[in-house]
Amino acid sequence: MSMPDLKEIIEKSKRICFFGGAGVSTESGIPDFRSGDGIYSEEYGELSPEVILSHTFFISHPDVFYRFYREKIIYTGAKPNGAHRALAELERRGALNAVVTQNIDGLHQAAGSNNVIELHGSVYRNYCMECGRKYGLSHVMKADGVPLCENCGGLVRPDVVLYEEPLDDEVVARAVQSIQAADTLIIGGTSLAVYPAAGLIRHFCGDNLAVINKSPTYADRIATLVIHDSIAKALSNAVLP
Ligand code: NAD
Repeated sequence: MSMPDLKEIIEKSKRICFFGGAGVSTESGIPDFRSGDGIYSEEYGELSPEVILSHTFFISHPDVFYRFYREKIIYTGAKPNGAHRALAELERRGALNAVVTQNIDGLHQAAGSNNVIELHGSVYRNYCMECGRKYGLSHVMKADGVPLCENCGGLVRPDVVLYEEPLDDEVVARAVQSIQAADTLIIGGTSLAVYPAAGLIRHFCGDNLAVINKSPTYADRIATLVIHDSIAKALSNAVLP
């Protein structure tokens, strides 16, 4: 489908909700999990990212977890791309009510979006598992090995949802509300393979469903518009001057 179709949909929409994932940030230099050159295609010894990024593994091997986390998950120099900027611009114009993201990289906020619903948390928030003291990302990055609490010596963990852990009820409720209230849902840069996050799109009951993803997703067959191309290109062509 051609770009004017997306532009047309966006221009007639009053309450757009965006639902996205790791593919939104690949053009900022952060690899996703499931593309050919994503993290899942690499090896970390015998361990898959899904194992390393699980609650059980974090508790039993925090040292290996943090080595992987610093090497493969955190990209402190990453900057927002055209997709993040276009979504921030739509919010500024009053046409977009929320960005619901599975990403933990903070790039939507860096681009200027205010209503960002982070289903899987954020690498910028960390806390001590013993006393609850809060830490920024720098505490995790500068630690030699496992970051510990300066207050009580407890293990500091990222405020991100690890595999085996449930999503936060209040965050899910906000996401469902934004998806339900939308007249247009744009799904982008997500394989829709990670549940329960991917299941939230079933709450959409508006007019237009646009999917922008390099590879096919299960939502393609119910979409009004499907674009199998770069999300930064598609969104910036449709929104930015
Ligand atoms: P995923 O890796 O399963 O899927 C990414 C999808 O994006 C793929 O279908 C791919 O074809 C598509 N894609 C990649 N680059 C694209 C581009 N430039 N334009 C359009 N489409 C593109 O990602 P997911 O569905 O978000 O699930 C992975 C899980 O991993 C999520 O839970 C997420 O929290 C986490 N994760 C987050 C980050 C991040 O914060 N940036 C990075 C990696 C993984």
